[in-house]
Amino acid sequence: MIKQLIFSLTVLIAASVFFYSVRNIWLNIKLLKPAYPLDRWNQRLGLLLNVGFGQTKILRFPLIGFLHALVFWGFLAILFGSAEMLIDGLFGLEKSLSILGIAHKALMFSGDLFAFIILILILVFLSRRMLMHVKRFEGIEMTHKTHKDATFALTLILLLMVSLLGMNMGYVANHTSHASIYPVSSLFVSIFWIDSPEFSHVFEQINWWAHILLIFFFANYLPYSKHFHVFMSLPNVLLSKLEPLTQMSNMDRVTQEVKLMLDPSAEIPSSHPNQIERFGMKDVEDGTWKHYIDSLTCTQCGRCTSVCPANLTGKMLSPRKLLIDYRARMNEKMPHLKADANFNDQKSLLDDYISREEIWACTTCNACAQECPVNIDHPSIILELRRYIFMEESKAPSLLNAMSTNIENNGAPWQYPPSDRMKWADQLYINE
Ligand code: SF4
Ligand code: SF4
Repeated sequence: MIKQLIFSLTVLIAASVFFYSVRNIWLNIKLLKPAYPLDRWNQRLGLLLNVGFGQTKILRFPLIGFLHALVFWGFLAILFGSAEMLIDGLFGLEKSLSILGIAHKALMFSGDLFAFIILILILVFLSRRMLMHVKRFEGIEMTHKTHKDATFALTLILLLMVSLLGMNMGYVANHTSHASIYPVSSLFVSIFWIDSPEFSHVFEQINWWAHILLIFFFANYLPYSKHFHVFMSLPNVLLSKLEPLTQMSNMDRVTQEVKLMLDPSAEIPSSHPNQIERFGMKDVEDGTWKHYIDSLTCTQCGRCTSVCPANLTGKMLSPRKLLIDYRARMNEKMPHLKADANFNDQKSLLDDYISREEIWACTTCNACAQECPVNIDHPSIILELRRYIFMEESKAPSLLNAMSTNIENNGAPWQYPPSDRMKWADQLYINE
């Protein structure tokens, strides 16, 4: 009973802190603009199964992709055991979900196996990070803090797996008839175990508490870490942009103006009141909820930057940095903006975080969005920043300004009137 009480109190504290963090994120989302209609759910579910659960994008890198996918699938199996621990702890039960029979046994078996596989893989990932200086993990945006965050989160996962295996070992030693359901733990028990029922019970309990407390700590650390993708990856894939990557979003307001120019009797829908609207994005609050959840989902894996032609040819642009900058600026500005809608710290995402040199280095090839394993749409941030520079500041590079003027005046990017368009063919007798 005492254990139940202490456990319930711990769950209450952990859940309250977690919901406080999630509520803050939700309030931030509410301050941002809409992105696109959330429709075509069949297509979205297909994406979720394919890119989310199937990890198809990450598997494009055969070896390291497969190892990462193993960690993801392993987590799904282990999650079942964590849910069972929660029920057991709250109601004072033991293995409460064993009523599921063979399915329970299969999930316990795979959870034990995956705990060991993940433990080994995390050791590999940690050594790779610390000793091998992988180019993908380097760049101006990869500061000491980001490396420390990644190492800390990986260490937490390592401890989670150690405590899970420890708990299973204690359980197997106490319930030898269940040994076959825990293949790795029973192997370790047969090799290392001290044959004493008291020791087994205490060992199991210590690891049970260590594991569940680590889960609570990890869940509350994640919203402030790049490892928040553990929660955000699947929702972000589900809410992906479904249009072709290269398709730009129209601005409703501009579309309405054009319609009015073509037909002055056209009505402007009431959803477009005569309010002053920002063209493009200068700061984070001009972005959409999708920009924000993209920034929360970024795993900082660097796959986008590793295929970016601008980055590969030595330009300042790194698509991963755009997401890190967006999240950092959200964290900096949003708490103030929630308290005071007119808050202005004389800073902005454009210029203070992302420079114009970075923005204009982009070729809009969309290779970054194509490669991203969690379907992040980097070019839309770049296009919105450019849209602001173009439409509000009129400060685009001179060549682009000239091109725009030509399109406006001549209907083509060149400085010739439409009547001269076929002059090049004069001597070729094509028109005769
Ligand atoms: S944007 Fe996507 S590909 Fe780029 S670092 Fe983040 S998760 Fe990786
Ligand atoms: S769209 Fe821009 S940022 Fe993305 S890969 Fe191409 S050049 Fe790089």
